[in-house]
Amino acid sequence: MEPLLFLLMALALGLIIYFIPTVIAIERKHPSWGSVIAVNIFLGWTLLGWVAALAWSLTGISRPATTPGQAPAQPTHQVARTEEKTCPRCAETVKAAAKVCRFCGHEFEAKQPPGAA
Ligand SMILES: [Zn+2]
Repeated sequence: MEPLLFLLMALALGLIIYFIPTVIAIERKHPSWGSVIAVNIFLGWTLLGWVAALAWSLTGISRPATTPGQAPAQPTHQVARTEEKTCPRCAETVKAAAKVCRFCGHEFEAKQPPGAA
C-alpha cells in the first residue's frame, strides 16, 4: 500500500473515530447535542474530552416513560418540607418561620416540641 494512501486512510479513520460522539449525539437526538459537539470538537483532542463527549452523547436523554401504565416517578414521598408548614386553619402553605399565617392570620404557636399536649 502506498504510504500516502495509508496516511490518508489513517487520517480518515482518525477523523471518523474523533467525531463518533458527535455522530452518536445527533443520531440519538441528544437534548444538548450542540454542547456535546462543542466538547467533542474543542476538547476531543484531549483524550479526556473525547471520552467525556462520548459518555455525554450516550447519556442524558430524558426517555419517555418506558413502562406505560406505571406512573412516572412522582415525588410522592413529600416529607414535610423543612422550609414550609401547613396552616392548620386554612391549610395553606406558609414559611416554617412564620408566626402568623399570611393567608388567614392564624397565629402559630411557638415551636411546639413533638409529643407536647
Ligand atoms: Zn392560614
